[in-house]
Amino acid sequence: MTTVLEPKAPGVLAEDKDAWSGEVVVLCPRCKALQTLQVVGDSILPTRKYIQKGTQVYHDCGSTQPCRLYRIL
Ligand SMILES: [Zn+2]
Repeated sequence: MTTVLEPKAPGVLAEDKDAWSGEVVVLCPRCKALQTLQVVGDSILPTRKYIQKGTQVYHDCGSTQPCRLYRIL
């Protein structure tokens, strides 16, 4: 199993001043979709189903609430 830590500010990518790269688990609050996304320099790599707006990530199911992000350590 992969260890997942909940960030201090759920749903926000850039919680630290330092750019961060790695993987995050993205949980959509609307449809509960779970997806692992690559992050490079605090930006998710472009995917079909997820859109980044600022430090928030939104699912394309129409959710108006940003996805919750969990860093994978
Ligand atoms: Zn969704």
